[in-house]
Amino acid sequence: MRKLKSETWVAGDCTRCGRQLRRYWHFCPDCAKRLTWRDERKETGCECYYCGWIVSDSFWFCPWCGRKIADEASSEEPLKKPRGFLYHARCPYLSCRGGVQYPMDYCPWCGRQQHWPFDDEFDGECPHCDGGVDDLMDYCPWCGKDATGRDLLRPALQRVRGLFRAARVPDWGYRILVRPGISGVDPNFPKVVEIERRLVERRDEISWPNLVGLLTHELGHSFLFHHWRFARSRRFRNAFGDVSKAYRGVDESWVSFRKRNFPETPVNYVTAYASKHPLEDFAETFRFYVIRRGRLKDLLAEIGRKGKGVIVFEKFLTLHTYLQELRRKKRAR
Ligand SMILES: [Zn+2]
Ligand SMILES: [Zn+2]
Ligand SMILES: [Zn+2]
Ligand SMILES: [Zn+2]
Ligand SMILES: [Zn+2]
Repeated sequence: MRKLKSETWVAGDCTRCGRQLRRYWHFCPDCAKRLTWRDERKETGCECYYCGWIVSDSFWFCPWCGRKIADEASSEEPLKKPRGFLYHARCPYLSCRGGVQYPMDYCPWCGRQQHWPFDDEFDGECPHCDGGVDDLMDYCPWCGKDATGRDLLRPALQRVRGLFRAARVPDWGYRILVRPGISGVDPNFPKVVEIERRLVERRDEISWPNLVGLLTHELGHSFLFHHWRFARSRRFRNAFGDVSKAYRGVDESWVSFRKRNFPETPVNYVTAYASKHPLEDFAETFRFYVIRRGRLKDLLAEIGRKGKGVIVFEKFLTLHTYLQELRRKKRAR
């Protein structure tokens, strides 16, 4: 892995929205404005003929657009660090080994594409180009597309938003991100719900209703982590149990959350998955509540028909009452 020295980057402000920018980003993460980094400070006296970005006259290729810009001023051989640029690594190709600066897209000496590790610098990866992005970025600074990946989930998200409105769940400012890795919610970042990227890429294997179910289940976790006092309250414990019970969260990407009706067993939980832990019990109860648009009467009737235990009534009532209280508090504010 190549080590980066990001503290040496120079920042500027977006001329459209004022957001602070790192030098050599291609797009503003807030407004998606396409950026051009010219030789404004007269560091090299040289800009690419094609893209207008700062280059060195010793370069053979533009490190930003990759086009050939060699002329008689170009260096005979690859340099480590021409004036105006920093040295971060050597080009990985043995035939070249010229100096390159993060985040050059192409080697200025041999023109080959460069790949940089983004691990420490950013929270995650853009689902469109694999470049580094932060959780709060709306647009990817590298490719300019939706950095959250929500564009890939659009039909499922529209459905989920509609269901939340119908069930009258007050918005707690959650943020859905499509990311590599696993689907889930980190209790330390309760508002961030990550959905595994492979689910979106392999759309033929997972149906929209299942994705709606997964999103709603994960949002249940996010909701509870965000309202943690409720999770620690006596009424919650009486209905769902003790959330501090030992439990290791699992990757839920491929669990089926498709069904809209309760299975008859287990008797004291909405689904078998709910019996794993009080956190899952809540997330599953929350999912059914939302998918069934918060229609408590319908839910309770079905619980009765399926011969579920009284405790299942209790769970839905606890959630329903808590949501009512939240709405009341919101109105009072
Ligand atoms: Zn901007
Ligand atoms: Zn260029
Ligand atoms: Zn090279
Ligand atoms: Zn991107
Ligand atoms: Zn879960």
